[in-house]
Amino acid sequence: MFKQARIKLTLFYASMIMLVSLFFSVVIYKSVSFEFEKGLRRVQAMRMAEDMNIEMPKLPPKHFEQQYSELFKEGLAVDLSENLAEAKRNFVGWLALINGVIFISSFGLGYLVAGVTLTPIQKAHHQQKRFVADASHELRTPLAVMKTSIEVLQRNKKAKLADYKKLSDSLLEEVDNLQDLTANLLSLSSSSINNLPKTEVELGAGLQQVVEKILPLAKSKKININQHLESALVWGNQESLKKLWMILLDNAIKYSPDGGRIDINLEKQKKDVVISIADSGIGIRADELEKIFERFYRADSSRSKMNVPGYGLGLSMAQRIVKAHDGQIRAESGLGQGSRFVVKLPSK
Ligand code: ADP
Repeated sequence: MFKQARIKLTLFYASMIMLVSLFFSVVIYKSVSFEFEKGLRRVQAMRMAEDMNIEMPKLPPKHFEQQYSELFKEGLAVDLSENLAEAKRNFVGWLALINGVIFISSFGLGYLVAGVTLTPIQKAHHQQKRFVADASHELRTPLAVMKTSIEVLQRNKKAKLADYKKLSDSLLEEVDNLQDLTANLLSLSSSSINNLPKTEVELGAGLQQVVEKILPLAKSKKININQHLESALVWGNQESLKKLWMILLDNAIKYSPDGGRIDINLEKQKKDVVISIADSGIGIRADELEKIFERFYRADSSRSKMNVPGYGLGLSMAQRIVKAHDGQIRAESGLGQGSRFVVKLPSK
């Protein structure tokens, strides 16, 4: 599909270049022919003046044509008009050669420029395709599980009301998960994150609210949260920033065993505000650190060791929120060493 588009675009660029080149060739031919003719007429007029013994300067004077209009009106002598025709023929030959070279190189150039133009579109198309493929894969698995469990129960002639109740509970749980997944998919695929209304935001206050919200979850796992928050202003969207803290804190709790600790730090550094959220959890292997921000990526450790539910979308959403605020996010970790997520936002 993109090969065809590239060829079409190449033809379009090449024909545009050729049109411009031909247009200028015609303009140049006309003006140069005019100047040729004018020059030869001057030469002829000078010759005639000589024959008539009219004193002339070596170069024709400025208003020569007007002064000697009589001489100038004469048609060109045969030998001069032959010269003119010859010069014009040569000139057309040169123009044809130049246009030929432009014609050939316009294809090469057009092909190159078409490639450059199409690359970002091709990349976006690829990402879109991968997103749709990943999303449908993620949706298919839980749907298949739900379908199979319903079919199994329907085939079981001895199924009791309690079995149906159990199934409906587990189906409800799955549906809740799917609802979360589709909501996350929608916000990931829409461009709304980039166009959020921004105001002056006190970061510490928003972060504090999220910590309070998540505290019961931490308490249920006997995880201690320690925080050191300076007051700092940024230009941003409070709601999406709160979502960012929620993703990072939720992960810190999810991937920590009972009795762990989380340290939250917010400080101003030169022109930035730096927020770090460190936990004493299971950690992430060094080779997986880059990948955890990709959509649907879940590190091995989280699957095998803790069996934590999730779809691998949180951090990719976190990264989008940070990017929409012209900031940076990175993770520092090692397997079994806890993890630290550092967010850097430009301060107001
Ligand atoms: P999810 O948590 O739903 O799997 P995320 O995008 O939030 O999706 O995280 C991607 C992966 O990064 C997780 O599956 C987990 O393996 C790893 N991860 C994220 N945060 C932490 C953390 N604080 N400690 C250990 N691993 C983490």
